[in-house]
Amino acid sequence: MGAEPAAANAPRIVVVGAGIAGLTAAYRLGAKGFAVTVLEASESPGGRCREIMVEGLRLRAGARLLYSFHADLMRLIADLGLGDHIVRLGGATIECEDRGRVYPLPMGVSTAVLRSAELPLREKLGLARLLPELANARLRGNPDDLASLPGQDGIDLQRFLHKRGLSAFERRLVAPAFRGARGWDTDRVAPAFFLLTAAHGIGAHVFTFRDGLGTLATALASGLDVRYGMRAARIAAGKGHASVEGNGLDGPFRIEADIVLCATEGSLAGRLIDTPAQPMRNFLASVRYNGMAIAHAVLDRPLPARQLFLGADHPSRLAIVESVPGSGSPEDPPRLFCELAPELSGEAERDLPLSGHIAPHLDGILDGRTVERWVDQRIPAMLPLPYPGYAARMKTYRDWQSARPRRVYLAGDYLATALVGGACASGGRTAADIIGHWS
Ligand SMILES: Cc1cc2nc3c(=O)[nH]c(=O)nc-3n(C[C@H](O)[C@H](O)[C@H](O)COP(=O)(O)OP(=O)(O)OC[C@H]3O[C@@H](n4cnc5c(N)ncnc54)[C@H](O)[C@@H]3O)c2cc1C
Repeated sequence: MGAEPAAANAPRIVVVGAGIAGLTAAYRLGAKGFAVTVLEASESPGGRCREIMVEGLRLRAGARLLYSFHADLMRLIADLGLGDHIVRLGGATIECEDRGRVYPLPMGVSTAVLRSAELPLREKLGLARLLPELANARLRGNPDDLASLPGQDGIDLQRFLHKRGLSAFERRLVAPAFRGARGWDTDRVAPAFFLLTAAHGIGAHVFTFRDGLGTLATALASGLDVRYGMRAARIAAGKGHASVEGNGLDGPFRIEADIVLCATEGSLAGRLIDTPAQPMRNFLASVRYNGMAIAHAVLDRPLPARQLFLGADHPSRLAIVESVPGSGSPEDPPRLFCELAPELSGEAERDLPLSGHIAPHLDGILDGRTVERWVDQRIPAMLPLPYPGYAARMKTYRDWQSARPRRVYLAGDYLATALVGGACASGGRTAADIIGHWS
């Protein structure tokens, strides 16, 4: 399904942001004959799905793994004919540390948790208490919609699991994975994300693209009018039109459109949209993203591949230490990936070198290797935080956006779930709203 040539009277749409949400929306709108232009601040598509060069290192800007339970994403991959480019991953094990003890943990959601020696027998039996909620999440919940489990938005995940007698499960298995992979503490997020991914993860597979996740964004962007180096500074809606102003490679720009779809990170949208309608203002004020700070220690010789998730009490205040052997090319040297703990995520906003936090704690890990240099990576808006009460706010906003035609729309992972599949579903949902309102 490619873009249809736009009809002369087709509404003109400007999408701000060429992440998966913006590109999916542009792709779906183009296929319906809308005239769509995408403005992207950076020099390549994909947002938090692309690869970037930082001080000569090729690094991921964000996502690593995809899950087959994302219906919209799987449909998009099929529509783009990318099925042959995906590789399934499975059976990988990570290591977790809790109070000085290191133990293996299966990566991703899996019934292998039941075999884990870290879980006392009473908690293995206690997991039965979760079954009705998992069954409900599987039957009624949509893994691409945090708001599809309205009953699970009221308390935090830690309390939710402790109330069910699952405190070892929470501390040893759930918390390290949430802190490391998501930068979220279990006492700050509602249970919905955990329940949806656990319930739909069983029987699903984890995959990636053979040549990197950039494959998806590049394929999506290839058939679209995407303009790079175009940083929007102001999105405004007037009587009968909308506009985007900003700075491009050739200087300041102003583009008139019938509709603007803002598909930036949710934490930026509030700053871009001039005098938003009250429901949009209220919602955007409720969006919170966590930051992430990663220091990459480039090594003289590789260490064996290893991914260690550290507990909240670890003195290093790191969440993950991963040894990446690399391919040996100058862009992909052997290195240690050192992700700071969520409580240090403020470092993502500061300028001080991150190595100061980390270097003193690497003695036992380096095993005779020398750190040749440090490269810092900062992601100020990593993931939208699904805190208790957030899903209900998101749903209220989405219902308002869907109710009747708007000049300015929103899409992004923060309107679905904080995963690539969620961003894709949000782009598709907002495109469907626009098609319904403006066809
Ligand atoms: C470290 C990390 C690890 C992750 N791991 C996974 C994972 O393993 N699996 C998974 O499914 N998900 C993962 N995610 C989440 C996933 O990457 C995101 O949920 C998803 O990519 C978000 O897509 P999006 O389109 O909503 O936003 P984005 O990808 O952030 O796209 C927004 C776009 O808007 C552009 N933009 C911003 N401001 C402007 C402006 N003023 N003008 C023009 N353009 C602008 C940005 O440059 C960007 O291209 C991870 C994220 C991070 C950060």
